[in-house]
Amino acid sequence: MMDQITTSGILEITYVIASVLFILGLKMLSHPETARRGNFLAAIGMILAIIATILFHKKDGQPIHNIVWILAAIIIGTLIGWAIAKRVKMTAMPQLVSFFNGMGGAAAALISMMEFPHVSPELIAKSGMANGHVLAILIGLMIGTVSWAGSMIAFGKLDGWIGDMRIKAMKYVNLTILTFLIGFIAFIMTRKVTAIAELTPLIYIMFAVAVVYGVLFVMPIGGADMPVVISLLNSFTGVAAAMGGFLYNNQAMLTGGILVGSAGTILTILMCKAMNRSLLNVIVGVFGGGGQANTDEGGTIKEISISDAAVLLSYSKKVVIVPGYGLAVAQAQHICHELDKLLEEKGVEVKYAIHPVAGRMPGHMNVLLAEADVPYDKLIESDEINPDLPNTDVLVVIGANDVVNPAAEDNPTSPIYGMPIIKARDAKNVIVMKRGMGKGYAAIENMLFFNEKTRMLFGDAKGTLQALVSEVKNM
Ligand code: NDP
Repeated sequence: MMDQITTSGILEITYVIASVLFILGLKMLSHPETARRGNFLAAIGMILAIIATILFHKKDGQPIHNIVWILAAIIIGTLIGWAIAKRVKMTAMPQLVSFFNGMGGAAAALISMMEFPHVSPELIAKSGMANGHVLAILIGLMIGTVSWAGSMIAFGKLDGWIGDMRIKAMKYVNLTILTFLIGFIAFIMTRKVTAIAELTPLIYIMFAVAVVYGVLFVMPIGGADMPVVISLLNSFTGVAAAMGGFLYNNQAMLTGGILVGSAGTILTILMCKAMNRSLLNVIVGVFGGGGQANTDEGGTIKEISISDAAVLLSYSKKVVIVPGYGLAVAQAQHICHELDKLLEEKGVEVKYAIHPVAGRMPGHMNVLLAEADVPYDKLIESDEINPDLPNTDVLVVIGANDVVNPAAEDNPTSPIYGMPIIKARDAKNVIVMKRGMGKGYAAIENMLFFNEKTRMLFGDAKGTLQALVSEVKNM
């Protein structure tokens, strides 16, 4: 008895410590300077929770069985995760995050599928199927499966081997499937049975329908709107994991799940605001103007030489840099910071305009520039810097495209119509650094490149910036 009290006491205390570490870790993730330590603290919390569960968890007085299988799975999973995370390029991070998020959803769904056939006859005799335990299993199954299937589609889209699939009635199809899934939960919970085995086949049906919903709701989502759906899927995985916490009465799992779920939900709401989209449309997979990518437009472009660009920048008072995905591809963040320091030494005020969906993951540009030690107070959110752009002498777009595309304001048929942008064309002069006339993630033409005020500086961002830095130094 004493032994029982001691081990369960240690377990509870470890879960509380793990929960505190998760919360501290999450708090520290909110700033680039502390993010690395925050990640480390949360990881320690998770390791503690896993070790304590293996050592001290008891069910009906029995310790955990199958320790060898569990350890083998942990070792194999850790090695695979470690190897993938070590090798992945910074620009492929979003795919990886999507994939890992999907694995979390799959784990939560598997927990539900494993636990459903074990709902005890005593519980059924006492409260029928309508109880919190069964509800947690079914919600965990539905949300975990949707998160897994949706994340796999998002992974394929971000990796470029799955395209968009838009069908007009998609919104109604998805709404119908969602209503069916919720109704199905109610249906299972109102069955009168003596043994759970009578209902087990139903959860396989529910699993299959949830897979279809997960696939269909992510399939139509257009390029520029992917960040919103990624953060929504993230929150789904958190909620599904929290259901596992309810099921096992496990505080660490519950806290971890709730933190991921609530942080993901807040991020989704912020992303919806940033992209000017409604949450209901995200959930049923309908976005934007629904127009086709426009490739017919165009006009004349004007180029600028490195030396002219160096002169223009050096004799400016205010310069705003708009970093985008291409900056990350070129890994040009350090040389970009070098240019900004050189210009500041010449008395030019340099700021960075950060669009919430620039790059390929939420906060991508903040992380990239923090890596190059760009001071955080130089990074200004797009809606804050936009009013200042008419007073900006030169706006330098480095590997960005969609986030400065005026089609979002001018063309109601554009798939990105309504998305707030950095109003680059308001600046007095615009220099665009990119390799050629390649399109952005949303695959649409960008009329900014043909604007009167715009000069194109073609080449890989790193090489161009290096040449520009030497030119400015020699002036
Ligand atoms: P875009 O994807 O719109 O454009 C990037 C541009 O960079 C391309 O036009 C490309 O043109 C240029 N480029 C690529 N490589 C280089 C290089 N080595 N040197 C110089 N230029 C280069 O980027 P944005 O950041 O403007 O927009 C992000 C897009 O990604 C948005 O549509 C967003 O919705 C979407 N997205 C964002 C996510 C997020 O969470 N932030 C997640 C998923 C999608 P060229 O080939 O001519 O060089």
